[in-house]
Amino acid sequence: MQFPETFDVIVIGGGHAGTEAALAAARMGCSTLLLTHSIDTLGQMSCNPAIGGIGKSHLVREIDALGGAMGLATDRAGIQFRVLNARKGPAVRATRAQADRVLYRSAIRETLERQENLHIFQQSVDDLMISGDRVIGARTQMGVDFLADRVILTTGTFLGGKIHIGLETSAGGRAGDAPANALAQRLRALPFRVARLKTGTPPRIDARSVDFQRLQEQWGDQPEPVMSFLGNTGMHPEQRCCWIAHTNEQTHDIIRTGLDRSPMYSGVIEGVGPRYCPSIEDKIHRFADKTSHQIFLEPEGLTTNELYPNGISTSLPFDIQVALVRSIAGLESAVITRPGYAIEYDFFDPRDLRHSLETRAVRGLYFAGQINGTTGYEEAAAQGLLAGINAALASRGEQPWCPRRDEAYIGVLVDDLISMGTLEPYRMFTSRAEYRLLLREDNADLRLTDHGRRLGLVTDARWQTFEEKREGIEREQARLRQHYVQAGSPQAQQLRARLGSDLSREYSLADLLKRPEIEYADIAPLFEGASADPQVAEQVAIQAKYAGYIERQQAEIERMVRFESLRLPDTLDYDIVEGLSHEVRLKLAAARPETLGHAGRLPGVTPAAVSLLLVHLKKAG
Ligand code: FAD
Repeated sequence: MQFPETFDVIVIGGGHAGTEAALAAARMGCSTLLLTHSIDTLGQMSCNPAIGGIGKSHLVREIDALGGAMGLATDRAGIQFRVLNARKGPAVRATRAQADRVLYRSAIRETLERQENLHIFQQSVDDLMISGDRVIGARTQMGVDFLADRVILTTGTFLGGKIHIGLETSAGGRAGDAPANALAQRLRALPFRVARLKTGTPPRIDARSVDFQRLQEQWGDQPEPVMSFLGNTGMHPEQRCCWIAHTNEQTHDIIRTGLDRSPMYSGVIEGVGPRYCPSIEDKIHRFADKTSHQIFLEPEGLTTNELYPNGISTSLPFDIQVALVRSIAGLESAVITRPGYAIEYDFFDPRDLRHSLETRAVRGLYFAGQINGTTGYEEAAAQGLLAGINAALASRGEQPWCPRRDEAYIGVLVDDLISMGTLEPYRMFTSRAEYRLLLREDNADLRLTDHGRRLGLVTDARWQTFEEKREGIEREQARLRQHYVQAGSPQAQQLRARLGSDLSREYSLADLLKRPEIEYADIAPLFEGASADPQVAEQVAIQAKYAGYIERQQAEIERMVRFESLRLPDTLDYDIVEGLSHEVRLKLAAARPETLGHAGRLPGVTPAAVSLLLVHLKKAG
């Protein structure tokens, strides 16, 4: 049967990628359908109930700056907020929030249900409808055909999902949910490169069985950070504390006795797991000389007793899970509410995608999220948003929007995946960005909200708040340039304690702020008219302190951009480009890079080869 309406965009999957994709396409005016297994699991966090962290909060802020849902949902659901790396430079500072899973899900669901142009339908998708080299829709389990010229696939860990606990295996998309096997089979028949990855989760613990006296408390930061540029602490629910525990040598011995029944070490699991989020058995194996590992016990929510023991993800047999948990001080009588497990799933080689996240093989079909080889809610949401934007642009007959590496972590993420592919679950780090001083979490709005407004993603309310902030920054910077502190003046006296001496001559407040020993709070009140907005103060301070570095990076980017965005025609014959080695020709022909910058980032393509390509393009005119 054919569903009565046709849509501009269909999104399959209601996880973090799917919900952002559907919201973006609908906000941009496309009639959009979100097809998902269960409306009750929209925005479900499959693993750790936390959003943000190093590299990840940068993505959340970018999603937020582009009008996405993740940042505000986190502010509505966060039960503990912290700034990581608070004492380090602004490029690596990162906000992290522990979230109540139920509140998070309901914040996402409410946002979706309020969105104009968005229709949600609960049903498993078993097949994609393809005509020639184009997607034309999706067919559900009960045989209903939904038609659209753009389809975004965001099925996470569900394709061919296989769950492992010890040597027991079962089919599942995550614990409690069925896998998507029919769709996985169908996709394997299409011309995409498919491989397996794995990820895992720890057992959960009943808080009533924990001896908290033996654990160290960890509260959130004061003043409470917020995740969204529109967020405020008034949105936050009650705040909770986490606890710190440690594994010990006995724990490690118990784990070793279970390795012969571990699916990872007995060769049952084929997929590669996340390097930066290893299972506890992996940690014991890889860091054999360490006698203890730190564990954070994190509440799963305000209305549940379940705790998430961050740091002991495992797929060891259940008897070993119980023993290892109970060997930890404070957890001697711990009651486990859910076993830990590993899950293996199909993912597609992201080198088969364009920067817009459209597949190269099937026009109108986009992939986003964990199916592209990434791990993490934030990485998934960022891709979902981009795929939603580009599906909507294509539907309007417009060119795709692909942020560059110097504009956004979203650009770094997609470019890394498409240029290099991935052999293990890819997660974001600030070290992946070459221009990280420019790509800070604090300035994501200044980098991206203009783009979001032009694309049709940013509401009037968000735009107004943003413009007020931008004008506030300009006003405050002008004020700091206008006011001078004279040597020997009362203002200079006030700064003496900071500087350790008198000023030798007059200085503008702007120049004084560049000195490492002077903080914005020292100079702002010396003259009237300082901004009361903490976001303005933060920007003014960071931009002044790092002005030299920022200017240098910007000059480098301007030089690079001229070449970076030179397009390589789809039909370019690399055999006629003079001077290229046979190996580089093969690599370029296989990868078909879209721009010169993209070509330069392919493994094995040297700067010399890029110069030869540039010469060829110039000759070809
Ligand atoms: P998902 O959140 O998996 O959402 C997929 C959605 O698609 C679901 O709503 C599903 O119902 C729907 N769907 C699937 N197939 C169909 C179909 N055929 N028809 C209709 N709907 C369909 N990330 C980390 O960063 N750190 C970790 O330690 C970590 N551990 C994890 C442990 C486990 C056990 C699991 C399952 C995941 C873990 N993750 C971890 C990954 C994190 O959950 C994902 O990165 C993130 O959820 C991916 O988002 P997504 O939107 O791509 O997919």
